[in-house]
Amino acid sequence: MRRTPWTAYVIFGVGVLTAYAIALLTSAPDVVTSVLSLVAMVGGIVAMLYGIRRHRPASRWPWLLVTSQLLVLAAPLLPQSVLEDGPNRAPSLADAVLLTASGIGAFALVRIVRRRTPGWDVPGFIDAGIISVAATLLSWIYVIDPLVGGTTGLSVRAVSTAYPLSDLLLAALGARLLLDGGPKPVAVRALTGYLVLIIAPDTISTIAAVSGDERWMPFAYLLWTAAALLIGLVGIHPSLRDVDAPAAHTTPDLGMPRLAALAFASLLAPAALLVQYLRGAPMHVPLICVGCGVLFLLVIARLAGLVAVQRRMAITDELTGLRTRRHFQAALDGAGATTAVLLLDIDHFKKVNDTYGHDGGDRVLREVARRLTAAVGTHGVLARYGGEEFAVLLTGANPEQARTVAGRIHAIIRGTPVQAGPETAIAVTVSVGVACSPADGIEPQQLPLLADQRLYQAKAAGRDRVSYAAGPETAAEPAAAEPETAAGPAAAAA
Ligand code: GH3
Ligand code: MG
Ligand code: MG
Repeated sequence: MRRTPWTAYVIFGVGVLTAYAIALLTSAPDVVTSVLSLVAMVGGIVAMLYGIRRHRPASRWPWLLVTSQLLVLAAPLLPQSVLEDGPNRAPSLADAVLLTASGIGAFALVRIVRRRTPGWDVPGFIDAGIISVAATLLSWIYVIDPLVGGTTGLSVRAVSTAYPLSDLLLAALGARLLLDGGPKPVAVRALTGYLVLIIAPDTISTIAAVSGDERWMPFAYLLWTAAALLIGLVGIHPSLRDVDAPAAHTTPDLGMPRLAALAFASLLAPAALLVQYLRGAPMHVPLICVGCGVLFLLVIARLAGLVAVQRRMAITDELTGLRTRRHFQAALDGAGATTAVLLLDIDHFKKVNDTYGHDGGDRVLREVARRLTAAVGTHGVLARYGGEEFAVLLTGANPEQARTVAGRIHAIIRGTPVQAGPETAIAVTVSVGVACSPADGIEPQQLPLLADQRLYQAKAAGRDRVSYAAGPETAAEPAAAEPETAAGPAAAAA
């Protein structure tokens, strides 16, 4: 087997953890486990620094900050740690160091997570928010309140509350990472595992501080050590590069597992109240009411986002990003008396498909759509009307303005060949039919039919032109000159 650095690192990590477990089981002196923790921490830092140098992630500083978070893991080694003095001790320098490191690490992780899935910012934030609000509520009821309730002094309370809260922040980031819909290579899984691993022992130690039962503390130290090793694995694995690489698909979806997780999280708050009521325990009524309210609003916000996405998808053509024919029809139904409709059809488009394949054809369609947008701007509704047919609705435009826009579209499309590849330039021309109300004596709703007839006339008259009047006085504007490049089949056939 080829010893890649990361397989060597996995062997090192498993070795350290095994030694640690043996030391625990044989009740070895504390110094042994302390040294093993230190070895794991240094190993994690070295692996991360090596990975940052070797795998060159897009942005280095967040990873350096995450590495600095390993200092948090030195908690068990610090003389004045939160664990040794219990909840009633005064805030110490160690607290300041630990909480600052925690905050810096969280800041860096936010940065990494946001780079992954640009389109998911809001939905990802809401999903993670739902999970975190539910978790905060439970943590408040079962950890923070019992811990802080018995203490006196504002600064002691603040510090005792800060630890569970900083853990919750990390939990939220872990949830965000798991729920963001991006790819999950080894490094992402290891990072999520790291977040879970540092939350679990913190919770164990907090509960130990509340209950005075220290039985599980050695296990917490073991988990801290494993966490240090895991962050090293994130760094040394080649997929470090992919952790903050933007994900390809950016439509925030709501699949069954995610829906179930969010529903479960939302129901935790009322369930907690019910449990308190049934057990005759003191009830956190105001707290849980606020929590339920916040959860409800978050769920509504998430649904509103989904509805907006669905609506946008329903009126947007997938290939070109223009509006759909259905949306065009609806816009036409609402148009005033003074309206113009332009219909355009790409000339000899079948030959483009035959020569350059369907992909080449699609590229031409997207480029034509882009040029249409450039020519029309925000003055009209632009739709993909059919396969390679486009429609423009100009509300409030008189015939002269409509002709100007049609001429601009015709010119901008034939002006430059479409670059379909490094070596492939396809000359593209369109035929355009223009119809105006009231100038043409018809209602706006009948404009597409007339524009289509005029489009047909433009085709019959030789293509590559604009036709804006019917009958004997047909005023078709033929092409001023041949397209610049004769590379494409359209030009060859002209
Ligand atoms: P004309 O100048 O008379 O319009 O000739 P034409 O070859 O453009 O003829 P027509 O308008 O009938 O051809 C439409 C072609 O457009 C046929 C179809 O294969 C192609 N087409 C329709 N939709 C798509 C699409 O989404 N992608 C691609 N690549 N081709 C499409
Ligand atoms: Mg056609
Ligand atoms: Mg055509």
